Amino acid sequence: MHHNRFAPAALGGGVRSALRLGRGPALAVGLAACGAGLPDGTAAPPRPNIVLYVVDTVRADRLGVYGYEKPTSPRLDAFAEGAVLFENAYAQSSWTRPAVASLFTGLLPPAHRTVGRRSVLPDDATTLAEILAAHGYEGLGLVRNPNVGRAFGFAQGFTRFRSEDRERDETMLERVRLWLDERQDAEAPFFLFLHAIDPHGPYDPAPEFEEMFEAGGAPAHYRTVRYLLGLNRGDVEPDSGTAEALSRLYDAEVAQNDRAFGELLDELEDRGLVEDTAVIYVSDHGEEFAEHGRWEHGLSLYEEVLRVPLIMRLPGVPARRVEAPAQHIDLLPTLLGYLGIEPPPTDGRDLLAALRRGGAPLDVYAHLDVDGHRAASVIRGRFKLVLPLSPSQGTAPMLFDLDADPGELEDLAGDRPDIVARMLGLLAERNLAGEIESAEEIEDDQIDEDVRRRLRALGYVD
Ligand SMILES: [Zn+2]
Repeated sequence: MHHNRFAPAALGGGVRSALRLGRGPALAVGLAACGAGLPDGTAAPPRPNIVLYVVDTVRADRLGVYGYEKPTSPRLDAFAEGAVLFENAYAQSSWTRPAVASLFTGLLPPAHRTVGRRSVLPDDATTLAEILAAHGYEGLGLVRNPNVGRAFGFAQGFTRFRSEDRERDETMLERVRLWLDERQDAEAPFFLFLHAIDPHGPYDPAPEFEEMFEAGGAPAHYRTVRYLLGLNRGDVEPDSGTAEALSRLYDAEVAQNDRAFGELLDELEDRGLVEDTAVIYVSDHGEEFAEHGRWEHGLSLYEEVLRVPLIMRLPGVPARRVEAPAQHIDLLPTLLGYLGIEPPPTDGRDLLAALRRGGAPLDVYAHLDVDGHRAASVIRGRFKLVLPLSPSQGTAPMLFDLDADPGELEDLAGDRPDIVARMLGLLAERNLAGEIESAEEIEDDQIDEDVRRRLRALGYVD
């Protein structure tokens, strides 16, 4: 499948210049000078700066603004008051690489095929960073999860891209400051992509946050990669207090990341950038604490790993909360729609345009295929179908009524074969009912030792 599908925005009589991308065919695209009026007197399409803040492993229901009772997210909660918040936002997968591939391309896993442990986001995928670069943006990507590093194709389209391997999410801010200093006289708007990782296991919060969430009582080994990996693989028996203890450590990490996010917001404010900078906060997937007997993520497609925060503060767009479902694939068409840039064909939709025009929401899809755990799911209205595609996922489709049973405890598949059949049909139509052929794969010996070491630190490689 080929996704090199640029469709430059129509800019009327704006300033035009040609721009050559580093790879692939030369593309002549229209560039509007930032903020310049067009000759006919109409305003140029807005070209605000963009900050895409992806935080790893944050489930929506652990954030105050999504109803959590503990104070994990004071900064995000305040931020959300001036933003568009999607109450029912979903990840396209339950682990990092396919989820961020969907965020970057607006495509479902069968189209980007970046699904497995060795899959690489294809060069010919059209990414958000590439589209923004073609429209004059200067992109900086800073990632703390090597699963979305350069080796796996995620640096496409960025002017600069770094894997950050320092202590904490807040240290990324230093790098951001230096870059903003460097380009403060730059004409071009910026696209800043940060992938923060503190809430991802191992859960090892700083003492002040540990104290705040009374997480200090957890045994020392609960903070280790080895222990979590043991739980995740079923090699370790949890105790009766394990879920609660890990959960507290996790909450503390979420709060610690919230402070880092807040510091980034402060930085934008101090530099007078708030008015012309769009800020999007989203998580790549959630986390399980044995709600269905599993730990961490990448093992299932239950709501605890799929429900993510999605909050956009867009200059000129009034704050509101949106109930209609949203998903990762919607980010690219939504952001480009806001910027007045014609998006390439995607599987998602422009959420803001949909709010203006109305219409039925799209079905929500998810897919998992990693380490032998393979499943697909679809949500239409109140019903969710999960189709197991490997033995670890069960042997028969499961059907849940999310309104009556949000915890997905009662499988209705046996009672409602009509709905099951219809929803299996939806998965088949989207090529989600079988195995997805991976995009190009990287061999283990092509992954350099530094990346392997950082993957191991997160529990990804033995
Ligand atoms: Zn992740």
